[in-house]
Amino acid sequence: MMTQDLRHLLDNNRAWAARMELERPGFFQKLARQQTPKYLWIGCSDSRVPANEIIALDPGEVFVHRNIANVVVHSDLNALSVIQFAVDHLKVEHIMVVGHYGCGGVLAALRGTRVGLADNWLRHVYDVKLRHRSRIEHLPIAQMEDVMCEMNVIEQVGNVAMSNVLQDAWARGQNVSVHGWCYGLKDGLAKDLGVTMSNAGEVVNVFRGAIKRYPRDLSGGVRASVALQ
Ligand SMILES: [Zn+2]
Repeated sequence: MMTQDLRHLLDNNRAWAARMELERPGFFQKLARQQTPKYLWIGCSDSRVPANEIIALDPGEVFVHRNIANVVVHSDLNALSVIQFAVDHLKVEHIMVVGHYGCGGVLAALRGTRVGLADNWLRHVYDVKLRHRSRIEHLPIAQMEDVMCEMNVIEQVGNVAMSNVLQDAWARGQNVSVHGWCYGLKDGLAKDLGVTMSNAGEVVNVFRGAIKRYPRDLSGGVRASVALQ
């Protein structure tokens, strides 16, 4: 029964493989021998944010890790293994952490919506909000949501950069940069958040510079002091 339901997908697959082979004879045979992607994409699992399509790359050109709300946690062996393999073995030159506006995971963390097991995962995003609340809580709701999506990316770029994988790679002089992007579901465009880190020495300054682009509420001194109590 399952096979019946998915028949159209397998048909799609056959048609796609035939078209690829027709347009570029030997494509799959060449790819089967080895992969040499230059990029590692760390993105959200959201079905509307597919890595290869958005940056128009073929199979073999981007190594991908996705989870809910594109979070990189130092105790997550899955993400760390992907990063380690990509950096140490594939020698990717660029790692993009790609968030997206309207991210359900980020919004759930921001609103305190209970979603089940993922609450524990999204706690990491909530922590981002707590850490930078003076730059977030005074904003109108729509802007607050967009800023949270961007700040979450910036935090995760910092987490990638501070991982021992990146620190070790930079210490031995390897050419690899970490970037932060935020993708717009409404227009299909990815925005560079200007948080690119290319060596260990610039991590802290780049991170601070990126965060400072989100001004604190200068008029709400009273509210801020209440919130801090
Ligand atoms: Zn998302």
